[in-house]
Parts: sequence; structure tokens; C-alpha cells
Amino acid sequence: MALFGGIEAGGTKFVCGIGTRPNDLEVHAFPTVGPVETVKQAVQFFQVKGGAKLAGLGIASFGPIDLDRTSGTYGYITTTPKTAWRNFDLVGSLSKELALPVAYETDVNAAALAEAEWGVSRDVENSVYITVGTGIGGGVVVKGEAVHGLLHPEIGHIRVAHDLDKDPFTGSCQFHGDCLEGLASAPALSQRWGRPPESLPVTHPAWELEAHYLASAIAILVYTLSPHRIILGGGVMQHDRLFPMIRRNVEHFMNGYIAKPQLREEIDRYIVPAGLGRHSGVLGAILLAGRGYHRRDAQD
Ligand code: ZN
Repeated sequence: MALFGGIEAGGTKFVCGIGTRPNDLEVHAFPTVGPVETVKQAVQFFQVKGGAKLAGLGIASFGPIDLDRTSGTYGYITTTPKTAWRNFDLVGSLSKELALPVAYETDVNAAALAEAEWGVSRDVENSVYITVGTGIGGGVVVKGEAVHGLLHPEIGHIRVAHDLDKDPFTGSCQFHGDCLEGLASAPALSQRWGRPPESLPVTHPAWELEAHYLASAIAILVYTLSPHRIILGGGVMQHDRLFPMIRRNVEHFMNGYIAKPQLREEIDRYIVPAGLGRHSGVLGAILLAGRGYHRRDAQD
């Protein structure tokens, strides 16, 4: 049986996996260093563990990335704040070393696809997956496919209402200051409160403010994309008291305007934690590698 390789290329770690689905996934993770060294480690893992059994590779990458196959920089990581990785040909360097067809996607689109295939959104057509951690990113699935367009969704950089009297922190995003990521990512929390989010007590006002910002962004997404479900993952969301606070804020912001049970009595099943845990990105990469393989197979 064909096996697939998947990489979740993150800013702090690379998660490499081999398998076909959640229950046969074998994973190896290591810290992200410079691009050349990191790619070398990934190649070694796939050569030793997968070898000739691998039929394709999927990459779920931090971004922004170039997904336009007609572009001269297709497969590149583009304007990332991580300077060593800026304008790096991630797809080209891996496909050359491994001699495999490569599917390329954003980490969050891949996670959204994996949740739609095997996780908490498999019973709906359209969903959004948001991760809140070192950065904030969001993937969008419409009718089983990840959304691409001019680029790809960059939900973390939505601008949300920011009352400087209530929250004088000016934001941590190096491109926009107080965009959503600049106000609500883990580094933003650390900078605003002078300590990392995991050390903030459950009663700390940080959490109500965090829920307010995330709910503001979710309301924008409900109005613009009308998803059937919204999934929240990432390190900051491990503070699970955030979920009820976010749901309450979303209901408050919507104020009954969209008369759907998902935004009232069924909101616990509308805004939900990720079902595949920390492996949704790498599983999404494997899913895409498999889809590419079966598509090529059908064409032959
Ligand atoms: Zn930003």
C-alpha cells in the first residue's frame, strides 16, 4: 500500500509524519533552525523511515507562501518575519532531494482540511480553522477544498476594534501593530502582561480581553464566510476556559442578527476545539499528498 509523507513546517518546529490517516501516523518532530539544515533533517527522516514506500509528500507550511503554480516563486515561503526563511524554495529543495511529487498548502488550510476529513468538521461542508499560538493563522475549507485566491487566507492579520483606553498595548505584529495577531497571539500576551500566557492565573483579566479579541475576529468570519463550524486550536487555546468566554462574546456581538441555532443554543457545537490535536497540520499534509497521488492514478 502507498504511504505518504507529510511535513508541518512551523516557525519553531518541523513535524514530519509518514502514514495515510490518523491511526497509522508515525511522527518525528525537531526544532526549526536554518532552512538548509532543517530540510536536511526532514529528508533523512523520510529516507530512513519511508524509503521506496513513499508515493508523495505534502507540506503544510507557515507563511505567507506562494501557492500559485504559474508563478516563478511557486513553492516558496515569501514575506515571513523569519529572515533566514524569507524567499526560500521549500517545495523545490524537498522535491529535488526526495524525488517525490509534492503538494503544498498553508499549515492552517491543511489543518482545516484534516479536520474536515477526519476531525470535528467532517459532518459539515464549510469550516474555518484558527490557530492561536506563536502567531495567529486561519484556514478555510469550502465544499471540501481549501480556499486559495490572490494568495490564501491570512486571518491572523484581520484588524479588530482596539480601544486604547481599555488596552493601551499597541500590538506586536511587525507589519501592522495591533492586528489580531498583534493583540492576541502568545507573544502579544507575554508582552502586554509581562509574563507568558501559560503562567497567567485563570482569573486574570488577560483571558476576558483575549476572548473579546478572538470573538471579534470570529464575528467578522461569520459575517464574511458564513462557515458551518469554527475550530480553534494552538497553544493559547489550551486554556480551555477561553471557549465559554469566546462563545458568550460572539453571541453578544451578533446580537441575534443571524437567527441560527448555531449562534445561540447550539454554539457549543459551533465554536469547538480541534479534534486531531497537535497533528492536524501534518495530517492535512498527508491528506494532500494522498489526494495528489490518487488524482495522478486516476489520470493514468
Ligand atoms: Zn499583522
